[in-house]
Amino acid sequence: MRVLPLSKEEMMSEKAREKRIRDIIKILGKEYPGARTALEFSNPLELLVATVLSAQCTDERVNKVTRSLFKKYRSARDYAEADLRQLEEDIRPTGFYRNKAKAIKGLCSDLSERFHGEVPRDLDQLVSLKGIGRKTANLVLGEAFGIPGIVVDTHVLRLSQRIGLSKNRDPVKVEFDLMEIVPKKHWTLFSNLLILHGRNVCTARKPMHDRCEILRLCDEGVQWKKLS
Ligand code: SF4
Repeated sequence: MRVLPLSKEEMMSEKAREKRIRDIIKILGKEYPGARTALEFSNPLELLVATVLSAQCTDERVNKVTRSLFKKYRSARDYAEADLRQLEEDIRPTGFYRNKAKAIKGLCSDLSERFHGEVPRDLDQLVSLKGIGRKTANLVLGEAFGIPGIVVDTHVLRLSQRIGLSKNRDPVKVEFDLMEIVPKKHWTLFSNLLILHGRNVCTARKPMHDRCEILRLCDEGVQWKKLS
């Protein structure tokens, strides 16, 4: 799909901004159909645990570990009462396993004591949990509960700046900038699309502008095109 490039003035206007977001969603939606987290889970607790394990680890490796982990630990209490050394062994292949085991135990004790072991479906309550920040909270809201949330991970942060959707470097500020310009019903999808595009095309080391389907909608891409 090809749409005429937007002028600088148009880009500034609200309507153009809305169209730009709509076009990005449309184009990347075709590039990455069914975009959602690659972490496997069957309930909110599993996603929460998988998210803790995914720090500095690939989703594939996390999924490999959680396939047996989730059969062994079925409730927040199971993790809270688990032997720390055993839990460390069970999650070892995901790396940083000592810190992660401690984090999971702390988080699940908190869940058991304050929420009867149930993962809350509310952002403020989620971020009140031990070790849970807005990124994880929004991921769980969007993926496990279907409640829109913008996940600002390293890819979303980088792409938001390159495309020109935010000038901020702080993830929370970027989240609020995106909340302003992306329709709420698309918050979860939009994050997932940027994450996939960041992994596949707009990588941290070398953005592949020449292969990018949203080049004409991207500040850095338009700049690159002018200079090339
Ligand atoms: S045009 Fe370049 S910088 Fe912009 S999103 Fe595409 S790859 Fe990233």
